[in-house]
Amino acid sequence: MNNLFQNALKQLEKVNELIKLENNIYSQLQAPQKFLEVSVPVRMDDGKIKVFTGYRSQFNDARGPFKGGIRFHPDVNIDEVKALSAWMTWKTAVVNIPLGGGKGGVIVNPKELSQGELERLSRGYIDAIYKLIGPDVDVPAPDVYTDPKIMAWMMDEYEKLAGLHRPGVITGKPLSIGGSEARGYSTAQGAVYVLNEAVKKIGLEKGCTVAIQGFGNAGRFMAKLLQNEGYRVAVLSDSKGTICNYMGLNVEEVERHKDNTGSVANYPGAEDRGEMHCLEHEVDILIPAALENSINTDNVNVIKAKLIVELANGPITPEAEEVLAKKNIMVVPDILANAGGVAVSYFEQVQNAYGYYWKEGEVLEKLKDLMIKSFNEVWKEKEKYNTTMRIGAYALAVKRVAQAMKDRGRS
Ligand code: NAD
Repeated sequence: MNNLFQNALKQLEKVNELIKLENNIYSQLQAPQKFLEVSVPVRMDDGKIKVFTGYRSQFNDARGPFKGGIRFHPDVNIDEVKALSAWMTWKTAVVNIPLGGGKGGVIVNPKELSQGELERLSRGYIDAIYKLIGPDVDVPAPDVYTDPKIMAWMMDEYEKLAGLHRPGVITGKPLSIGGSEARGYSTAQGAVYVLNEAVKKIGLEKGCTVAIQGFGNAGRFMAKLLQNEGYRVAVLSDSKGTICNYMGLNVEEVERHKDNTGSVANYPGAEDRGEMHCLEHEVDILIPAALENSINTDNVNVIKAKLIVELANGPITPEAEEVLAKKNIMVVPDILANAGGVAVSYFEQVQNAYGYYWKEGEVLEKLKDLMIKSFNEVWKEKEKYNTTMRIGAYALAVKRVAQAMKDRGRS
């Protein structure tokens, strides 16, 4: 199994060959500035106490408060949380928002908890990390299996402990308590803005075909937005199956089918392609929106797409990426492609600080400007170093972080 944090360090090593950081800086980017492991005792509905393990990784705060989501998943582990916190550092830098990078997680399958147990776990996790977070220190947000309702409990717990209103301590909140318009679909929306730019660069047309691996939070919004933009969403998959229709699937109908049956599999409007895997299909654009390491040396050779836009974090292993580069398949990397979520989280913090809220159109306009500007800046670095978009994005981000560290006298 690929170790995600080792992958993150390998990517940094590769970019360092190009940008040649001072050793004093490079050595500080090999590990999080701070890493906390906590035990969270939760009273279960049967009256017994169950102890959950949680983490918070604060990778780098040279450019601003640590920023990153909280994942509730049975596979959460130290290396994963560290890797995700490093990627958050590069992500906030690549879109040039004044934040650093962090990430949190709890080892739990939230589907096995009652609502009461989930609430007590969410509040308990905040009790455990309370001293480490705050609007000017470290600002969590949702990630896999956490949502606005959980963010609301967490913010409420923080404010109770602080004895103050501090909505900016957490982003991804419901609108009623300081959330931002468009936050719910901002990750996918940001990815659409950069996908449109990439499509122009490689000469694809708007009606071209798309496959999306993963039909969860991020994948569903992406499918709907791309369909509205005029792309043909030809292939959709989830953990239980893949469906295909090269004329374009009706995404809203697929969504209803999934809500009724629990999967996209057996959707009646799809052509029967047997057991063909999502990655194998003859499409122009492939969007991994499921899990880490889902494109690896075992399956990379079946990919026929011309463009890959990483909606998931870390879906391509470094070894598989080398194969894609040789085949001239363009990859828009996660730290740029899915940065729309953290960008609107930042807008949410700004609105919380002002106590003044923007309309949806205003948020989208700001997001579009930010994503297109970032895409063009990454493209420039890619051209400058004659490299891939990932290395271009890393070069841009790591140089920004290094500059901030240097200016603070941390080198
Ligand atoms: P999710 O759990 O809602 O969805 C994951 C989807 O992947 C599910 O439909 C699941 O069935 C599917 N899946 C699992 N294994 C699969 C397989 N082998 N083949 C095909 N599909 C499979 O999670 P999410 O929130 O949509 O996040 C997905 C990815 O996007 C993660 O890497 C996450 O870090 C990243 N991401 C999400 C957001 C967000 O706003 N939700 C923001 C930034 C990044």
